[in-house]
Amino acid sequence: MIIVMNPSANQDDINFVIEKIRSLNLTPHALPGVERTIIGAIGDTKSKDTLKTLVNHISVDNVYPIAKPYKLAARSTKHEDSIVNVNNIPIGGKHFVVIAGPCSVENETQITSTAAHIRQQGAALLRGGAYKPRTSPYSFQGLEEEGLKLLKKSKDQSGLGIVTELLSAHTTQLVDHYSDLIQIGARNMQNFSLLKEVGKVKTPVLIKRGLSATIDELLMSAEYVLAGGNYNVILCERGIRTYEKAYRNTLDLNAIPKLKELTHLPIMVDPSHGTGQVNMITPMAKAAIAAGADGLLIEVHPKPEEAYSDGEQSLTFKQFSDLMTAIKPYIELAGKELVVLD
Ligand code: PEP
Ligand code: MN
Repeated sequence: MIIVMNPSANQDDINFVIEKIRSLNLTPHALPGVERTIIGAIGDTKSKDTLKTLVNHISVDNVYPIAKPYKLAARSTKHEDSIVNVNNIPIGGKHFVVIAGPCSVENETQITSTAAHIRQQGAALLRGGAYKPRTSPYSFQGLEEEGLKLLKKSKDQSGLGIVTELLSAHTTQLVDHYSDLIQIGARNMQNFSLLKEVGKVKTPVLIKRGLSATIDELLMSAEYVLAGGNYNVILCERGIRTYEKAYRNTLDLNAIPKLKELTHLPIMVDPSHGTGQVNMITPMAKAAIAAGADGLLIEVHPKPEEAYSDGEQSLTFKQFSDLMTAIKPYIELAGKELVVLD
């Protein structure tokens, strides 16, 4: 059940409703909003009639059942767009955010020079993998903790918040310590124990769509994190696997307007993995903006031909600058504003 508070409700009113929900052996989830607070009551709904009487309380506007299986993620639960704050960068709503960086953190010069360049060009967050999910066990697996330390150094120098992938539960604390936004990669989208782990932390989480995951499955994965009490979730369309072999993945931009309809969570697009080809990244970035994306994830490398991973889809500094110039009018046309660091 959903309890919609009046805009004038104060913290005492919210606490009253939360206690009422707890007294019925249900779990309360207070979703913060700009205008009003929405409180989800999750669990066995035998007591729904008792909950409905809350509508008589002066601070409560409405009480109604949630029809969707993903309850906290559903737009029908919370109508207004959620805005997730990552290192003081707002993601969602009218904001447009570019996250960029190399696929893997390789060495100090590589990551710090990339950070300086992307910041200067208008990226608001630095992305780099320290733990890499590779198809082959013989491929570079990432610098691990050393990579996290290099990301921290880059953050200290550039001011850019850090986005990096959490690959397995045993490194949650370590990765959480260094991250401003924890990435759950496509291959882990349905790693439910990992999703439960990131539901327990306070750091925002970026969930990438699985290689063959449906929209409903992606939303159910987001629901795992929300149900754990971490309400700072961002979704990412990164291409799905289809019969088409002309490019690495099929970037499913249908997902953007559909997800906007179904959920209040911000949605980013990764045209680097979505296409796997440098020449396709800018056109698909423009298309993603037109479709309503809240931001982009772009792979950038000082020397793509020498990259340890995903070199063929990594932009050079010059190509990244050109992409930023090319997308700016599209961001404006979409009615959004590019968020840059002061
Ligand atoms: C990545 O971001 O470098 C990555 C491995 O992405 P995905 O999980 O989407 O394949
Ligand atoms: Mn990559």
